[in-house]
Amino acid sequence: MTSVVIGSGFGGIAAALRLKAKGHEVTLIEKHPDLGGRARVFKRNGFTYDSGPTVITAPYLINELFELFKKDPKDYIELSPLKVWYQFIFEDKSKFNYSSNEIEMKKQIEEINKEDVKGYEKLLSFTKKIFDKGFIELADVPFNKPFIMIQQLPALLKLKSYKSVYSLVSSYIKNEKLRRILSMHPLLVGGNPFTTTSIYGLILYLEKKWGIHYSMGGTGNIIKGLEKLMNEVGIKIIKGQEVTKIISNGNKITGIQLNNKRNINSNNVVCNADPPTVYEKMLNENINNSFLFKWKKDRMEYSIGLFVYYFGTKKTYDNIEHHTIKFGNKYKEHLDDIFDKKKLNKNISYYLHRATATDKSMAPDGYDCFYVLVPVPNNQSKIDWSTEGNKMKNLVIDKMENDLMPNLRQNIVEDFYLTPDYFEKDLNTKYGSGFSIQPKFSQSAYFRFHNKSEIYDGLYFVGAGTHPGAGVPGVLSSAKILDKII
Ligand SMILES: Cc1cc2nc3c(=O)[nH]c(=O)nc-3n(C[C@H](O)[C@H](O)[C@H](O)COP(=O)(O)OP(=O)(O)OC[C@H]3O[C@@H](n4cnc5c(N)ncnc54)[C@H](O)[C@@H]3O)c2cc1C
Repeated sequence: MTSVVIGSGFGGIAAALRLKAKGHEVTLIEKHPDLGGRARVFKRNGFTYDSGPTVITAPYLINELFELFKKDPKDYIELSPLKVWYQFIFEDKSKFNYSSNEIEMKKQIEEINKEDVKGYEKLLSFTKKIFDKGFIELADVPFNKPFIMIQQLPALLKLKSYKSVYSLVSSYIKNEKLRRILSMHPLLVGGNPFTTTSIYGLILYLEKKWGIHYSMGGTGNIIKGLEKLMNEVGIKIIKGQEVTKIISNGNKITGIQLNNKRNINSNNVVCNADPPTVYEKMLNENINNSFLFKWKKDRMEYSIGLFVYYFGTKKTYDNIEHHTIKFGNKYKEHLDDIFDKKKLNKNISYYLHRATATDKSMAPDGYDCFYVLVPVPNNQSKIDWSTEGNKMKNLVIDKMENDLMPNLRQNIVEDFYLTPDYFEKDLNTKYGSGFSIQPKFSQSAYFRFHNKSEIYDGLYFVGAGTHPGAGVPGVLSSAKILDKII
């Protein structure tokens, strides 16, 4: 059996390894000269910048890939648990250290609003129920047939999946600051806490279950370890070439064509590339899409875009935690603007990553290495990033100087940024969305792009746009589904 995997994000690499373990002859093709997709690494002037994922949860899903080949993950990667998971900062400069230390958590909640301690306990036990159903039971189930979804509906309704995460959290928690903290998880997978189905409340419990980890040397070291493993087990890796066409005979997939016009025949094609782009651009000579599928595809709503500013400083900021989330005072209005109105809002909220808080190897001695991520509208906005990019960079530096790091600008020694244009043009993602389609109930499970194509025989999907969804645990789970369907 032969399988071609298009794309080397976490989902694509996991798919290649899982198919190889099943005895397939596997070829992995990546457009870029380096692997990782959203988890690529940029190295510049002694600084190592992980471009994307930095919060590593459910590490067993990564370890499993090594264990498939009876290898010890510790020979390839080093994951280190963090003590403070996120430091939340509000406009009034108050802070909240979010962690697995429940005594500390409750102490801080009590200081903000005593009544909410009980609500927090109840919320935790409710999110455990969602986690048991949504993650343990359903994350690696292929939702290919409507009856699988119909079977699950009563349980999903019982878990209040019709509510948003914010509304679920608000039913337990009274204080607005705590509501924001405990409902922010959809943002990690490209969803709006005010509209994302409460099923995504499971992330709150998932973090508690296995902790939050950092990959020493950066997330890029996990990709490096997995690439070493792929080479050892005989997966053929083609880098720096783009798949331009998926070839089919009627509805049966027979192979792919590369941008150098070379064809590779294959029994299966597994796409880690964004599903809407695959259906619209790589299969566009085929007219086999049913009316229902076209309707489903056309009504899809896309996740937000991301502005990510990477910078190194000539001094260290020892007061800054590894992960900081700053809520702007117009939090909801900012989210409404970027998700729905598709316009920029100067009252930004942002996430700041300081890798050097845990790992000094990420920057030269005495320097610090950061990225700051600002959620922005995706490219449905038609924003011209060639002019707005620099303005956004200056805005976020101003905010960080005011909130956290006085005189930051004069200490920055090198920098660059990515906008939704990078996600659209370089990563082939529709509208440059940061996390493919949004994690709404109407776009989850059966309603998402199926792992086994609903149109073509021999075509499969792994990664953020398919079930269960974005985030490293999600895309690794999507690859696990292949074990059941190929
Ligand atoms: C800035 C940022 C921060 C994030 N932080 C976290 C975090 O802390 N924790 C977490 O769990 N998740 C995080 N995420 C989400 C997570 O990174 C992604 O959901 C996940 O990595 C996506 O993996 P994927 O398998 O879908 O593939 P992707 O990473 O999207 O990779 C797809 C690959 O396919 C390639 N490709 C596309 N088309 C073609 C073609 N035609 N031919 C060849 N190759 C092609 C692309 O070049 C790319 O390499 C973050 C995302 C971003 C952007």
